[in-house]
Amino acid sequence: MDEIAPGVFVATAEMYVTTTTIVAGADGGCLVIDPAVTVAELDALASWLSERGLRPVAGWSTHPHWDHVLWSSALGDTVRYATPRGAEVAARERPGLISGVEEAAPGHDLALFARLTPLAGDRPEIPWRGPRAVVLAHDAHAPGHGAVFLPDTGVLVAGDMVSDIEIPLLGIEPGETGAVPAVRYRHGLDVLAGVDGVRVVVPGHGHAGDTAEFRRRVAADVAYLDALRAGRDVGDDRLTAAAPWLLAEHDRQRALGY
Ligand SMILES: [Zn+2]
Repeated sequence: MDEIAPGVFVATAEMYVTTTTIVAGADGGCLVIDPAVTVAELDALASWLSERGLRPVAGWSTHPHWDHVLWSSALGDTVRYATPRGAEVAARERPGLISGVEEAAPGHDLALFARLTPLAGDRPEIPWRGPRAVVLAHDAHAPGHGAVFLPDTGVLVAGDMVSDIEIPLLGIEPGETGAVPAVRYRHGLDVLAGVDGVRVVVPGHGHAGDTAEFRRRVAADVAYLDALRAGRDVGDDRLTAAAPWLLAEHDRQRALGY
């Protein structure tokens, strides 16, 4: 567990280098963003929180993929928010999400899995007693994706965007072809890039970075999208040591036809 800013902690799981973000609030309450991944890791997270005298009072799910909608009874019976679209998609796609978690990280309490409460509004703030947490919604990578920006510390919890280890994953919807997913992704990047005062970025998979690193990743993601759409070779460092599944995803994105 690393304290990346005062009162903001990031744990990194072994699987997919997945991050969990904890924000300390008033009276020992804390906000838990995307707790992940295995049953043992969620148990360890709950133990760490109780050792520090922290108690989850709100949760946030950045997007409706199985590794971002997990919870454990050890984290308490706490309201877990998502964007309205994210919550709706998580409910609708529940069977597929359950298949995903059962295959990759079995043993979770499925009664708690993907149970999300919609948080409506234009750039709403998560309702809790703690540092302001502003939601930035877009549909890149997954429908109803909601990053969280903490203006007091300049921390941007980006969800599955601006990673140092993953290329942009467009989240192609069934039947989609052409430039639509790339244009949608570019819009999501613009939303994040437009945030003033980012001092630390936390990707859903990968490592935290400072302001310069955030800007570098945005530029790398834009360059990736531009190359895809132009049909050029994508010279992206993140593909050099990429796992087979990531290379397959890259091939699928290249074959989309632009
Ligand atoms: Zn994802």
